[in-house]
Amino acid sequence: MSSAAKILIVEDEAKLAAVLRDYLEQSASYTTHWVDRGDTAMDAFIHEQPDLVLLDLMLPGLDGLEVCKAIRAVSDTPVIVITARVEEIDRLLGLELGADDYICKPFSPREVVARVKAVLRRANTAPDSRVPGGLLVDEEKHAANYKGTGLKLTPVEFSLLAHLAKHPGQIFSRNQLMNIIYPDYRIVSDRTVDTHVKNLRQRLADVAPGEQIIESVYGMGYRLAD
Ligand code: CA
Repeated sequence: MSSAAKILIVEDEAKLAAVLRDYLEQSASYTTHWVDRGDTAMDAFIHEQPDLVLLDLMLPGLDGLEVCKAIRAVSDTPVIVITARVEEIDRLLGLELGADDYICKPFSPREVVARVKAVLRRANTAPDSRVPGGLLVDEEKHAANYKGTGLKLTPVEFSLLAHLAKHPGQIFSRNQLMNIIYPDYRIVSDRTVDTHVKNLRQRLADVAPGEQIIESVYGMGYRLAD
C-alpha cells in the first residue's frame, strides 16, 4: 500500500507545500492533496481519506493543534506535526496530541519522506485501525464514508447510522430508533425500523461483504460494534 498512499498536506506556505508535494510524489510515488488553511483541513480529511496527514501548526483559520484534535476525535490516521521551533516539541509532547511524529522547520524534503515512510510502515501493521470500524460520519455534510467508500444513503438510513455511530457499543431499542428517524412521533410499526436497518446493513455489506458493524441484539435492539 505504501507506494499508493495518499498524504494530506496542511501547510499555508505555498512554496514549502509545493516542494513537499514534488518530493512525496516523485521520489516516493505517493499521491498528495494540499490545503493551505486550518479551517478547511477537516473537510479535506473527511473527503480525501488520506493515509497520513502532514500538519503545520501555525495556520490561518484554525490552529494546527485544534486540527490535530479534530482528526484524533474521529480517526487513528497517522499525523506528523510540522513545527517551526525545536523548543516547541517538548511542549507538544506534553499536550498528548496523539501526533505520531514531529518534524522541525527547516527540514529537508528527504527527511520528511523518510519520516512519512516510517510512520506509514508502523501504521500498516494494524491495517483496519485507521478509523474505528472504518466508518466516518459527517453530519453537517450528510456524508458517510465506510472503509474509504462513500455510502449512498436515504435520509432515514443516514440518521440511523449517524445516531448509532455517535454511541458505538450502546444498544438502542426499536422505539428509540423510531423516535430518531421520525421525530414527529408519527406512528409506524416496529417492522419499519427493521426494514431501514436491513437496508442500511445492505449498503455496508456492499462495501465490505461478510463484515457487519451493525449488530442486532436479540430482544433488545441494535448497536454499532465498537
Ligand atoms: Ca505555517
